[in-house]
Amino acid sequence: MNRVDVVVLGTFVADLAFKAERLPVVGETLLGQGFAIGPGGKGSNQVIAAARAGARSAMITRIGQDSFGEMARQTWSQDGVDISHVLVDETAPTGAAFIFVSTKTGDNAIIIESGAAANLSATDVRAAERLIAKANVFVTQFEQPIEAAIEGLRLARSHGVTTILNPAPALPVEDTIYAHCDYVTPNETEAATLTGIDTSTDEGALQAASSLVERGARNALITLGAKGALLHGEAGTHFVPAFHVADVVDTTGAGDAFNGGFAVALSEGQSPVDAVRFGAAVAALSVQKAGTAPSMPNRTEIEAFLR
Ligand code: ATP
Repeated sequence: MNRVDVVVLGTFVADLAFKAERLPVVGETLLGQGFAIGPGGKGSNQVIAAARAGARSAMITRIGQDSFGEMARQTWSQDGVDISHVLVDETAPTGAAFIFVSTKTGDNAIIIESGAAANLSATDVRAAERLIAKANVFVTQFEQPIEAAIEGLRLARSHGVTTILNPAPALPVEDTIYAHCDYVTPNETEAATLTGIDTSTDEGALQAASSLVERGARNALITLGAKGALLHGEAGTHFVPAFHVADVVDTTGAGDAFNGGFAVALSEGQSPVDAVRFGAAVAALSVQKAGTAPSMPNRTEIEAFLR
């Protein structure tokens, strides 16, 4: 079997974004002011970010036998993502998100349904062991069942594969999961939820990172939006500033771009700090374009940006 650089276990979700003057109230029907449909889901966004950034990338998930599942395949095939371990679920639909956006205030209200990906089991992940074993880096999140994430991290580590857990959304987890993580990459809010520590100050962010390391992670990497990211653990303690972007168009998916880019750089053997810088470059480019998966930059754009 050919090697892969980055394997991502996670979800695909079709994002259905509705715009209206305001959000509807209970029982109300409103006329819309725009509609867009596009590929989303943290796992899928991260695998697209990795593939565009130049990694041989593979996705492990479940999708349904429906048109959103077809959209997922098309999205991945356009960027050459290996989908040999994407299972087709005959009983559940592909994941979808209803995103309501107020054109007046920018407020939103969202329902995410992971659909078939909610059926991802530890057994499914074990069936992908050979794929995971030949990767350089394994990445997962929490949009699919946590048992599947834990099994993926455990298997990856048992084969010497570098593991990244992007604990989003932040859910209550047993601390034992962190022992399987080379890097745990929450954003500021997720780090606060996971540790109970206020991360709004530099000291607070460092305390939260230390707490994740005490719980067993080799390194904590807390992303701090436009400020940058804090890396703490075996790699030392480093604050890596974000790149300044004058025209921010859409920050949705910045975290996914960052994680995908970080994984690629680690898989290439870059140092942890250089890998954070590479992830930050991928994210800085992605916030200059609308959308999530469609906004992920390619390798040429990343290299030109870093030059
Ligand atoms: P999202 O939920 O929007 O996908 P996130 O909350 O998971 O994002 P952030 O911490 O906001 O993740 O951002 C991740 C990384 O992306 C940051 O560490 C930074 O490098 C980069 N980034 C985010 N916002 C900006 C910005 N406005 N300008 C430049 N870089 C940014």
